[in-house]
Amino acid sequence: MTTAAQQIQGAISIRNVTKIYDPEGVHVVAMQDCSFEIAAGEFVAIVGPSGCGKTTLLNAIAGFDTITSGEIHLDGELISSTRKQIKPDVDRMVVFQNGALFPWKTVMENIIYGPVVQGRVKKSAAAGAAREMLSQVGLNGIEDKYPEELSSGVQRRVEILRALINQPKVVMLDEPFRGLDAVAKTVMHEFLMEVFCAAPRTMFFITHDLDEAIFLGNKVVIMTTRPARLKKIVHVNLPWPREHHMLGSEAYLELKREVLEAVHEEAKKAFEAGEREMA
Ligand code: ADP
Ligand code: MG
Repeated sequence: MTTAAQQIQGAISIRNVTKIYDPEGVHVVAMQDCSFEIAAGEFVAIVGPSGCGKTTLLNAIAGFDTITSGEIHLDGELISSTRKQIKPDVDRMVVFQNGALFPWKTVMENIIYGPVVQGRVKKSAAAGAAREMLSQVGLNGIEDKYPEELSSGVQRRVEILRALINQPKVVMLDEPFRGLDAVAKTVMHEFLMEVFCAAPRTMFFITHDLDEAIFLGNKVVIMTTRPARLKKIVHVNLPWPREHHMLGSEAYLELKREVLEAVHEEAKKAFEAGEREMA
């Protein structure tokens, strides 16, 4: 885990990014001239109509795909442009929506697999770190269980710990709690809040759930309907750690109104353009 003495990294600068899929053929403009800044250690919630280009941006930062023009920098280093595209690495960990754990491995084996297999840490040290992480979030005792023995909510938490053990600069989550029920989501939010407050690092969190975005984010980045550009940034000045009673506060309701209005405007445009699936 990051100690207070370590400087938090993970500042992302997105500069005039355009992404065109299949330029010679169907020519889908997914992002156009998209620019915004993420400071190191920010929890950024990204919202916008379905199909607007959120995952496209995540893929560029993670190094899964290239961009057509513009630049992305991480801590001042160019990581994505037409001249340079760095590969996926453990400094930018992605937690997928349907990211599966290895079903034939225990929780412990799943969490330590990456760093051990890549030879970055000895197995015993990784196991110690994993145990500490599990107990910090009240999940001790599940080390030897197999994924199928766990609820989907616990599986999701283990997936996130598996990403965090790499101590990435940036954690990217793409609608990670889609499909979980409201109660399970609440538990996930508290869990994320706990791990984030214990060791702040940049979180790039894509969601279509506006309450989730405001509850977790210190800023909510609202994207336009496709092609994705920055529509608006709403700064969430609620105190940390966020607690669920805040969702009823006047300040919260005001933020919700502001986010909803911007999202609704874009969702309407998307709908009129024939993209029926809404944010
Ligand atoms: P979001 O994550 O906001 O829902 P995406 O970034 O996945 O949106 O997609 C943005 C647009 O780009 C969508 O219209 C999608 O259909 C299109 N798209 C995504 N990937 C590809 C691809 N590999 N080839 C062509 N079009 C794509
Ligand atoms: Mg997506």
